[in-house]
Amino acid sequence: MSEDAVRWPSFCDLCGEYTTTPEHCSHCGHTLHAVVPPEVPPPGPAHPTTPFAEAAASRRVEHRGLLAELAQWALAEGRRVDLDVAAVCVHALDRQRTEGGIHLDRRQVNWIMWGAVRNEVSPRRALLPDTWIEDLWTVLRFLVATERLTSDSDPEPALLEPLQCYGGLGADGRERPDGVDVDFFCQCHHPHDPTCPPGMVQVSLGRDWDDHFEYVGYAHGIPRSVDIPMSAYEPLAKLARRHRAQPAMFNVALDQFDHLGTVPADREVSKLWLYLFTPARKRGWPPLALDEHGRAWRAKRHRGRRRGFRWTSVDDRSAAHLCGLASWEFDREHREQELLEQWEDDGPLRSVEP
Ligand SMILES: [Zn+2]
Ligand SMILES: [Zn+2]
Ligand SMILES: [Zn+2]
Repeated sequence: MSEDAVRWPSFCDLCGEYTTTPEHCSHCGHTLHAVVPPEVPPPGPAHPTTPFAEAAASRRVEHRGLLAELAQWALAEGRRVDLDVAAVCVHALDRQRTEGGIHLDRRQVNWIMWGAVRNEVSPRRALLPDTWIEDLWTVLRFLVATERLTSDSDPEPALLEPLQCYGGLGADGRERPDGVDVDFFCQCHHPHDPTCPPGMVQVSLGRDWDDHFEYVGYAHGIPRSVDIPMSAYEPLAKLARRHRAQPAMFNVALDQFDHLGTVPADREVSKLWLYLFTPARKRGWPPLALDEHGRAWRAKRHRGRRRGFRWTSVDDRSAAHLCGLASWEFDREHREQELLEQWEDDGPLRSVEP
């Protein structure tokens, strides 16, 4: 992506926070894919005063030809569509227009959900209707069905994934019932990869901090809807025991890690189990990769490799640093110390910002 393609300030599509730096999120370091002009300052507390239809009126006019076609298509599909919401979505999606049509990948849909559509609405002091994601679903399917996307856009199933992972929809494009979760592994931060082996998924394994190159590996990912057996935590339990047994190490608490899946053995490394340290999830730390003995491995830049990295083993202490546990513990101790000092300075009655 060229330097000037990324505008800011804007929302990060990974952590959803406003970032104050270009290119990489000031909160989590994520590479920004967003393309949005800085039309407005970050929205303050919302005091919606404008009815949504009024906020969308100019977009309704601007895209009326396409919206009329959409209404016909939705009717034939048996789907209701709110044309005010559709107008705003179409306008946000139109920012991805190139000569050959609208270019969309899964990451951009994720971004459009978090940033572009809201950026359309919030300066007009309006609120999106609760069911707006269902309308975005209809709009996306309509754009695919009427061949308005470029041929190198991601396939439709991939484009619809963020609406399920983060938008609460089921595979039918309607709100998921309570207690039902998505039955596929989230790859919303990666574009569709046609070379990904069947049954495997792309997983971010960290970055080269010099140039932010992202190590993306293939793994057998476990969907959110699947209950994970305790046996899947055995490698992590081995690491935790070694940390407990040595002085000045870390508290590796199993319930603070999500098991993401496994990386099959290859010529240089045996099978690896991936665990994401959840308290630091938003900060973009990579998952811990452990072999069956609980020894940690990390992806390291190797320009000769097709995927740009190779595996290298690290010691137990480095493992705690790599996954964000060490820095999280440091932050927590620091916060506790600060609270204590503030308490001593100001007395216990004054409330303290978290
Ligand atoms: Zn971020
Ligand atoms: Zn996802
Ligand atoms: Zn992203």
